[in-house]
Amino acid sequence: MTPLGQRLARQIAASGPMTVADYMAACLGDPEHGYYTTRDPLGAGGDFTTAPEISQMFGELVGLALAQGWLDQGAPAPFALAEPGPGRGTLMADILRATRAVPGFHDALRLHLVETSPALRQAQAATLGRDDITWHDSITALPDLPLFLVANEFFDALPIRQAVREGAAWRERVVGLRDGALCLGLSDPTPLPQLAHRLEDTRDGDIVEFSPAAEAIAAEIGPRIATRGGAALIVDYGDWRSLGDTLQAVRRHEHADPLAEPGEADLTAHVDFEALAQAAQPCSASRLTPQGVFLERLGITQRAQALARGLTGAELETHVAAHRRLTHPAEMGTLFKVMALFPKTATPPPGLDA
Ligand code: SAH
Repeated sequence: MTPLGQRLARQIAASGPMTVADYMAACLGDPEHGYYTTRDPLGAGGDFTTAPEISQMFGELVGLALAQGWLDQGAPAPFALAEPGPGRGTLMADILRATRAVPGFHDALRLHLVETSPALRQAQAATLGRDDITWHDSITALPDLPLFLVANEFFDALPIRQAVREGAAWRERVVGLRDGALCLGLSDPTPLPQLAHRLEDTRDGDIVEFSPAAEAIAAEIGPRIATRGGAALIVDYGDWRSLGDTLQAVRRHEHADPLAEPGEADLTAHVDFEALAQAAQPCSASRLTPQGVFLERLGITQRAQALARGLTGAELETHVAAHRRLTHPAEMGTLFKVMALFPKTATPPPGLDA
């Protein structure tokens, strides 16, 4: 077992099973052994890749959508351009480059990144090469300004709890010990008032996931945008309502057992967008839109053609494959969804419907 696994096993032996959320939080964020704390998982020889790492087109279009949202709201100045979980900083670098020609945008923006991982803060500083970045540990520390925020594959990294329905009650999935090894178990049945609405659309034995951490962040962003103006573009895999066990571990681009190597594999779960939209009130939420549809509406095909003109051979092939990967329903196009949060008095950023 990994050093973190040994420590968690001792903890469970001493004080009993832990929730999936506490397990996930330890695996990802433990200050000493956490997955994100100790490495850049997107780097060469890393564990997974993301849309902005696949092609510059993703960040360019997201940046122009945010900038158009900013113009549509009267170009407030100054405003916070914020990103939680910026990874290697690639998305923000593409956003900044693509928006350079938007009059006033760069003068008005104040750059705020929310990142808990020291390793990734370093990568972001290197990629962005600017001296005007403010980093925060928590979204609550963002300044009181109009807020234009982008979050790509951030919410999927937040800890989830899992509950198995039993009558009108739920048994929570917990991580315990069997013969010295970590294993999944179930708590005694308890009522979970926060899942009352899921008694309508589930049956005995169904697994429902919820993320108090994700909801708390949406509850922080939503009211800020509602009162100060701005927009949040949230891109992630998931659906309007979660159903079933979506906890997954990925290591070196392969699926792994989430309990096998605590701290050494990336752990994620699908995002429940309905829960984010609810928590973000009084902000409005756009319709949940497949990533492929969103990018096509923003003109990714025209952008891909323009970039293709300068390419030949293997570079051209990689570029064509990247376009397909971001948009095709069999790749990221349908699994990944986009939702915007925006003030009730505003329209959503381009590419999305109210
Ligand atoms: N958005 C990037 C990276 C996604 S990986 C991209 O699209 O490439 C997830 C990111 O979220 C990493 O930067 C990770 O360190 C960060 N992260 C995970 N949990 C976090 C938390 N609780 N608070 C802030 N950042 C977190």
